[in-house]
Amino acid sequence: MATQSSIEWTEQTWNPTTGCTKVSPGCKNCYAEVMARRLHAMGAAGYENEFKLTLHPQRLEQPIKRKKPTVYFVNSMSDLFHDDVSDEFLDRVFDVIKKTSQHTYQILTKRAERLPEYFRHRTCPDNVWLGVSVEDKQYGVPRIGHLRQVNARVRFLSVEPLLEDVGEIDLTDIHWVIVGGESGHKARPMQPEWVESIKRQAEEVGVAFFFKQWGGWGSDGVKRDKKTNGRVLNGRTWDNMPALSINA
Ligand code: SF4
Repeated sequence: MATQSSIEWTEQTWNPTTGCTKVSPGCKNCYAEVMARRLHAMGAAGYENEFKLTLHPQRLEQPIKRKKPTVYFVNSMSDLFHDDVSDEFLDRVFDVIKKTSQHTYQILTKRAERLPEYFRHRTCPDNVWLGVSVEDKQYGVPRIGHLRQVNARVRFLSVEPLLEDVGEIDLTDIHWVIVGGESGHKARPMQPEWVESIKRQAEEVGVAFFFKQWGGWGSDGVKRDKKTNGRVLNGRTWDNMPALSINA
């Protein structure tokens, strides 16, 4: 079922596919993998294949049944643009999205090279916020160029877990940047100056900046537990969202 989300920047999650395979360093401590194994051990419906990519056509109707306008994060437990998700299944997902214009759908992928390919002859619905993960220079930053090629109404970057200084990045036609450190007991530390650099760049070009969390390490480089890891950067929280009103 679609579930209420604890992710700070969304309301509900919708997982028409589950499972994935790792593609880049940001995947190393994948939260979805840990959760899928746990849910499988508990016998939860939909996790019979643990973390193997699995299509769930029976879940496609879920957002149609919900009338209340809702912000959905699509595939918190997978990557919608994984190679094993056919164009035909993607078409079915996007048909549901088009039919439910009362909702907003946030779709985040690490398979960014598939975006311009899939949308070459298709329109990205207006109620989609399309994003890519940018955890480092080698794998993350090149994804931004692929995203920019898609005519999505909102294009966003999830710079999480931020693993190094990504340097100067081209934020042309990007509307929203989320930055966060890694959580969990195997978390890799994030340096404050890496975050500051992205925040400065976003502010210089007027892109909304959202600071999600420090993650498993505090801004002082000391390891924290979940309760105290914090969201404060320079004495305050940063919760800016794109200025566009999607359902206007
Ligand atoms: S792409 Fe996302 S869901 Fe897939 S393994 Fe990497 S972090 Fe996990």
